[in-house]
Amino acid sequence: MKKEQIKTNFYEAVNGEWLEQAVIPGDQPTISAFLELHLGIEKTLMDLTAKWEQDQTGLSDNLKKFITLYQMTKDFDTRDKLGTKPFEVVLDKINQLNTLKDLEEVFCDLTLESIETPFGFSVMQDFMNSNNQVLYFGASDLFLPDTSYYKDENTKKQLIGLFTTTTTQLLSLYGFSKEEIEKLLTEALAFDELLVPVTKSSVEKADYVKLYNPLKKEAVQALTKNLDLMAQAERLVKQTVDQLIVTNLDFVNAFDSIISEENFPLIKSWMIVSNAIRFASDLTDEIRIAGGAFGRALSGIKEARSKEKFAFYQAYNPLSQVVGLHYGETYFGPTAKNDVKTMVHEMIDVYKERITENTWLNEKTKEKAIKKLSTLTVHVGYPDELPPYYDAYQIKGYEQGSDLVQERLSMTKIRNQYDFAKYNKAPNKNIWGMPASMVNAYYSPTNNQIVFPAAILQRPYYSLDQTPSENYGGIGAVMAHEISHAFDNNGAKFDETGSLNNWWTDQDLEAFNQKAKDMIALFDGVETGYGVCNGELTVSENIADSGGLRCALEASKKGSTHNLEEFFKNWARVWRNKSSLEYSQLLLRVDVHGPSILRANMQLSNLLEFQDFYGIGENDQMYLAKDKMVSIW
Ligand SMILES: [Zn+2]
Repeated sequence: MKKEQIKTNFYEAVNGEWLEQAVIPGDQPTISAFLELHLGIEKTLMDLTAKWEQDQTGLSDNLKKFITLYQMTKDFDTRDKLGTKPFEVVLDKINQLNTLKDLEEVFCDLTLESIETPFGFSVMQDFMNSNNQVLYFGASDLFLPDTSYYKDENTKKQLIGLFTTTTTQLLSLYGFSKEEIEKLLTEALAFDELLVPVTKSSVEKADYVKLYNPLKKEAVQALTKNLDLMAQAERLVKQTVDQLIVTNLDFVNAFDSIISEENFPLIKSWMIVSNAIRFASDLTDEIRIAGGAFGRALSGIKEARSKEKFAFYQAYNPLSQVVGLHYGETYFGPTAKNDVKTMVHEMIDVYKERITENTWLNEKTKEKAIKKLSTLTVHVGYPDELPPYYDAYQIKGYEQGSDLVQERLSMTKIRNQYDFAKYNKAPNKNIWGMPASMVNAYYSPTNNQIVFPAAILQRPYYSLDQTPSENYGGIGAVMAHEISHAFDNNGAKFDETGSLNNWWTDQDLEAFNQKAKDMIALFDGVETGYGVCNGELTVSENIADSGGLRCALEASKKGSTHNLEEFFKNWARVWRNKSSLEYSQLLLRVDVHGPSILRANMQLSNLLEFQDFYGIGENDQMYLAKDKMVSIW
């Protein structure tokens, strides 16, 4: 540790050596503790895949499907021979459309195959009643990752220019002529432009209760006369539908002016361009590389993935939970599962104690918060069951005349049929939202549930070779971070059953909202060296980090071997990160997580124990005046 930097930049003091040596892989925008673990798992899974390819003895049926698909994705000779032919089935469907009426006729088929259309439906849990699932409706995404890019003329010009160059290159590989490409792009961009004023910014999307806008059938019909949305909804779920949850009212209010006969040529070109981008990864090597060019430029990624890695992920992604289950069962045994479960419950108990001792909440609110903690369900390692659609997948292979576009359409259709059939039914809360092989964790407010996949349970987060204080500063803080999401500015609006329900007294809610505002102010406008942090965009994650850090510290203090330095150092270590400038700046605009350096430093500055332990004074950069400190949980 670089001791002289402790008081000026603790993150650098701990990670200085790593930051000097770390190399961002050519096909990545970043390298971090998260990504280092991810790359290790990637190697394990790719080695396993190579082994399975040689010998499939003992593999489950679904793993055999993964291998069959992998044999297709890695066969670049056949892919090159097929050229763009597999895409014709998609292009033909779009080319046949000449009016809105035509789109209306095939909309359900396109939706089931996830062929890009300018708006769409999905079935998710009802925020008002988490035991039911309802239909959400919204518009498609913009070509640029956030509305803020469209506001600044220079940035917009530069990025739309980049999009145009990379997409021109892609479309020419599809065989479109120069004139066709010019027309397609002009019209597609004109349609994108129509969506900009009615699209929510990343900051607006981060407030997810505002995405919940129930609209009765009659109201939807009154606003959307050009296309019968309710009829489409009913065809998709095969039931009568009396309301939609609209994620963006502005879009529905403007629906008839955007989705109109007059604009149909723009819509059609937008669909061709969007789907050419979407399906590029299923075609030749040259086309998949061209298809990723815009994303790489946006994130400052130097090179496309190698053929080998790309082929692995192309088979892994649609079957990730199947491969992840094998990973979890093989590398994360029942002993580790029990260890980690015990640790999570320990963190929940500490959380309860902290709520009991809390000085700014009334007893009534405390009781409700403790009830929410008591009913929180915990999933660790790997799930007990997988979504059933994997069993229905059938991978045919090239020998049976199939290709990667057909395989994708067929898997997507099975999956979407399963998703739409969930309408008006209770959710299965045993199904996870990420594979066990993913280095991550999450809290689901509608399930009041936390999930810790096996992959994150490694160094520097967690290891039996690390001291307890190091583990608390790592995985302990991650666990408490996820628990804190139950009480962040979004989670706090949901009750213990996962439904939207105000369980706060007015006074306590006001106090909480003030604290959330203080947290916004603490991070807002803080310079990172590549731009400033957006306090509003990152408030939920900063509340979770702050609560997580405090709770993990409390848990560490209870142990006989508690060591503050080990705790603080590992907290800073898990946030080590080196990214391309482009990627860092992109995340400042779109990521609800704050910049890593602030997650490490600002959260420590905001902690009295840290200030006292290192004797941080007014003139030190790591200093934060006590009256500026924000402690919520
Ligand atoms: Zn989080």
